[in-house]
Amino acid sequence: MAAIKRLFVANRGEIAVRIVRACDRLGVESVVAVSEVDRNTLAARMATRAVCIGPPAATESYLRAETLVAAACGTGCQAIHPGYGFLAERPAFSRMCEKAGLLFVGPRAESIEAMGEKLAAVHLAEQAGIARVPGSGPVGTAEKACRAAERVGFPVLIKASAGGGGRGMRLVHTARDLPQALDSAASEARAAFGDATLYIEKFIGRARHVEVQVLGDSHGRIVHLGERDCSTQRRYQKLIEEAPSPAISERVRQQMSAAAVRLAGEVAYRNAGTIEFIYDPEGDNFYFLEMNTRIQVEHPVTEMVTSRDLVVEQIRIAAGEPISFSQEDVKLEGHAIECRINAEDPARNFAPCPGRIETWNPPSASTGIRLDTHCYAGYLVPPYYDSLLGKLIVHAADRSGAIRSMRHALADFEISGVATTIPFHRAVLGHGDFRDGAVHTRWVDQEFMPAMSALQAAAKSATEASPTQAAK
Ligand code: ADP
Ligand code: ADP
Ligand code: MG
Repeated sequence: MAAIKRLFVANRGEIAVRIVRACDRLGVESVVAVSEVDRNTLAARMATRAVCIGPPAATESYLRAETLVAAACGTGCQAIHPGYGFLAERPAFSRMCEKAGLLFVGPRAESIEAMGEKLAAVHLAEQAGIARVPGSGPVGTAEKACRAAERVGFPVLIKASAGGGGRGMRLVHTARDLPQALDSAASEARAAFGDATLYIEKFIGRARHVEVQVLGDSHGRIVHLGERDCSTQRRYQKLIEEAPSPAISERVRQQMSAAAVRLAGEVAYRNAGTIEFIYDPEGDNFYFLEMNTRIQVEHPVTEMVTSRDLVVEQIRIAAGEPISFSQEDVKLEGHAIECRINAEDPARNFAPCPGRIETWNPPSASTGIRLDTHCYAGYLVPPYYDSLLGKLIVHAADRSGAIRSMRHALADFEISGVATTIPFHRAVLGHGDFRDGAVHTRWVDQEFMPAMSALQAAAKSATEASPTQAAK
């Protein structure tokens, strides 16, 4: 790669490892930014070099744009990969990199900006002929929100225009509950994003989250790599993703990917991006939700069914090279599923569980099983960052084969020292609704978790009852 000999990784955890791997594949050297607690992480050890950029708190390290740019220049890098989260979707960071003469492995600042405000993105999508969920513009007052909600009909979702990661969202069933929900959504959005702009969307019941992966290069080519279904969510956050979607027809699949390519073309999109849709099985309709202008956590399921390396493509595109394949070359094969393994305790409302990993016995490596992680036995999960330990991904000929393979892999995966979401995944993958492809975006919150809690309560009262029974 002529334009990039050395690349700076402005991120941590599994995605930092993933980016270093892509660099290795391309023969590009890598420099990983590390906070004080991340000095000895897997990414730091695998990279050509690691540089400490500050104290553990993200605001003192991974979010310090100037420090990162200076470190990249100082270590002789030509490019910066921001990963996901942190600075990945800050237009100012993309601009700062380019100003310093560094290639930003992501879209142009203008594209990040255009899609960063969800309400603005919704209008762009409408211009590209893609329907949005029936909804409103910004709602500044409770009266305005109430009129909008009555127009689209309850239940509605309150959403933050600057939102992300499911924050600032509230499901509201009646006009009476609206003012309080608006207040709490506004304060959450203000705290998380520094912007309290809210809008209203009709809540689509029993909906599926289906998103399309696109790539664009600086030569004007846009390709899509099919869709992912991310309907297994808790509190609007993805937990399990798969490709292809078990819920949509071939006709919808084609319309959806054509819509995604059209929207990406509209903004002359460069690098990897994802256009998210909500699919309403009842009306067999899909609506635009938002566009994420970065590599996503769940990109591996697409890589498994297309046999393409998305992070390698991202780096080549940033170097000015064309996408290495054409739309006709994209063939989807088999079915892939990913489970996000978090250091969280599903039995305690998914409370984060930082601490020392004592046992780390992943399923043995074999074809069709992939583990993207930065963890190992003895690793200390720091409390400062998000709780993702790794992603377990399987690929099989069809969906039932993939479910079987994932259940075996989860059964074999042994972790001790910190609580993880593995028991949750085992239970979901064993559930008839998941097997039947019948889950929707609120299934975990409204159906699965309440049933699990009831089971746990019953088991608890049975164990509490047994000593007295034994005494009789
Ligand atoms: P994806 O849609 O890529 O699967 P998520 O929506 O779960 O992923 O977010 C990816 C990562 O980015 C997570 O680590 C999440 O905590 C982080 N993230 C999402 N939105 C924001 C935001 N607005 N600001 C900072 N971090 C964010
Ligand atoms: P974020 O930026 O937090 O990812 P999204 O707009 O993508 O925000 O919404 C997060 C999730 O909430 C989606 O993945 C989807 O499952 C669910 N969701 C969003 N809008 C709707 C809607 N109108 N009806 C039903 N579910 C929705
Ligand atoms: Mg989203």
